[in-house]
Amino acid sequence: MKTIGVLGGMSWESSLEWYRLANERVQERLGGYHSARIVLDSVDFAEIEAMQMRGDWAAAGDLLAARARALEAAGAEILVLCTNTMHLVAEQIQDAVDIPFLHIGDVAAEAVAAAGVTRVGLLGTAFTMEQPFYRERLSAHGLSVVVPDADDRALVHAVIYDELVHGEIREESRQRYAEVIERLVAQGAEGIILGCTEIELLVSAADSPVPVFPTTALHVEVAVDRALADA
Ligand code: GLU
Repeated sequence: MKTIGVLGGMSWESSLEWYRLANERVQERLGGYHSARIVLDSVDFAEIEAMQMRGDWAAAGDLLAARARALEAAGAEILVLCTNTMHLVAEQIQDAVDIPFLHIGDVAAEAVAAAGVTRVGLLGTAFTMEQPFYRERLSAHGLSVVVPDADDRALVHAVIYDELVHGEIREESRQRYAEVIERLVAQGAEGIILGCTEIELLVSAADSPVPVFPTTALHVEVAVDRALADA
């Protein structure tokens, strides 16, 4: 089994989920006393959030590239970044290491395409929904991407930063997300990417009339399968 290098803490609520799911998947695949080989580098999210607010993506890229190098030095053989948003600096991170980097956008796009969905709704932070980096990554896989309108984007973003990254799961917010999903479906979305690693703590398949694609769970599945490829 290969060692997975996990660049986490963005937020730790979703990294906790990533860690739990990875161990469960290894257990499912190998049984016995098996668990995942992981080295985790968990950042202080306050530093990252401040850089996001300033739009200082170069500093965020430098910081995450340095942490990625530390993971490689600690024995990581595969690298994952447990946040969709910070894939905005994925290139910088990837360039900093020699080990393979598993891009969460590719994982999401491949799952969507495998389900036969071509027009997909995207929920995530304002950065993920509004800046081109994530939508372009999905489009490169042949998908057409629908994002919520400005009011809905503001709602989706606020719930992530004001509630989910603090571990607050509110029924009222789940209901409002379900309404946003309904509006994306009315715009032709045949599936919904939960393109923020905390959203699946709030929303599940039961909240959507079309299939949902939870990026944390999908990322874990592919990472663990790669780690076990020659086990
Ligand atoms: N975890 C989130 C994501 O997947 C948002 C927090 C962050 O900005 O990294 O986009």
